[in-house]
Amino acid sequence: MRTYRIAAIPGDGIGTEVIDAGVEVLNACAGREGTFAIAFDHFDWGSARYKRTGAFMPDDGREQIKGHDAILFGSAGVPDVPDHVTLWGLRLAICQPFDQYANVRPTRILPGITSPLRAVSGPELDWVIVRENSEGEYSGVGGRVHRGLPEEVATDVSMFTRTGVERIMRFAFDLARSRPRKLLTVVTKSNAQRHGMVLWDEIAAEVARGYPDVSWDKMLVDAMTMRMTLRPQTIDTVVATNLHADILSDLAAALAGSLGIAPTANLNPERRFPSMFEPIHGSAFDIMGKGIANPVGTFWSGVMMLEHLGEPAAAARLMRAIERVTADPSLHTPDLGGRATTADVTAAVCRALAADNL
Ligand code: NAD
Ligand code: MN
Repeated sequence: MRTYRIAAIPGDGIGTEVIDAGVEVLNACAGREGTFAIAFDHFDWGSARYKRTGAFMPDDGREQIKGHDAILFGSAGVPDVPDHVTLWGLRLAICQPFDQYANVRPTRILPGITSPLRAVSGPELDWVIVRENSEGEYSGVGGRVHRGLPEEVATDVSMFTRTGVERIMRFAFDLARSRPRKLLTVVTKSNAQRHGMVLWDEIAAEVARGYPDVSWDKMLVDAMTMRMTLRPQTIDTVVATNLHADILSDLAAALAGSLGIAPTANLNPERRFPSMFEPIHGSAFDIMGKGIANPVGTFWSGVMMLEHLGEPAAAARLMRAIERVTADPSLHTPDLGGRATTADVTAAVCRALAADNL
């Protein structure tokens, strides 16, 4: 029997609560399937470690996890450490060196959940946003000089490389092709940003020639927010830069009912390094320690992890179990207007997995 080795990095805040829940559900899922096992190695990397030792992860941290089959990540961020220090010290310290350049974010309205878009029903909103995850606006290039003086200068330089844009564009066209509608929207801001974004447009047109069976269109990012809210039915697969897709995917999560539901995969498609799966939400300071964090985003991320590991049957079963549970309003956590706890939802998903009629 195959055993997958997964590095679990709960991180901070509700990250620890939802990863505990995710580990329980993934073990239950493997047990139910009976054809594979999952061995979790837990890493205490995060802000507590940073405050104790000055580093979020050990010097050889990436060495320790580079042989794992995948990474399950919670959240990084605490109120008393600046967010950019945390982000670059932990999450990006894994994503960047492991070249997880494709960030994939599916959005659907799950059964039992109401979208804030009144006129939209479940099947009408079924999107996947592909976020360029290695360069662009979050390349880290830039600096600050003359700190505190009137002439202080700060720059963040957006880096767009032909290699980087081409590979994410190909990934997005491949993904669009694999979905029933074969429809891709390329989002840029090439009217105002006349260098990098124009390169995106040009490369999109070049790559599109290799995909005559995929219909594609272009959209400016500001107009895209309107299309997502007013004409969600016209969207299927979306590709956008690191910054634009970051923003659009939070909007997508909210339109699907709650940030607590949304999953994401940080993929190294060539599999030279492990890929990382995580809910898109953060540490949620306002609810941490209360036991009411919605674990569905982590469970759905687990579905994406099982797909990536090559266990489509287990992935599909887990997704059905999640949907059975969301369909029951008595199992909704407070972010969805309900009164259930993280433990209630976790137990219910485990029960659904075990059911004969799932
Ligand atoms: P957040 O996602 O932590 O919280 C935003 C709101 O959504 C809060 O009201 C929160 O209670 C709610 N929420 C989020 N997840 C939920 C869940 N699973 N169940 C129920 N409610 C949920 O975003 P924020 O407040 O902007 O950030 C808080 C901290 O998290 C910051 O330090 C930030 O840097 C960090 N953060 C980390 C990541 C990451 O590690 N990937 C992502 C986003 C934010
Ligand atoms: Mn974000």
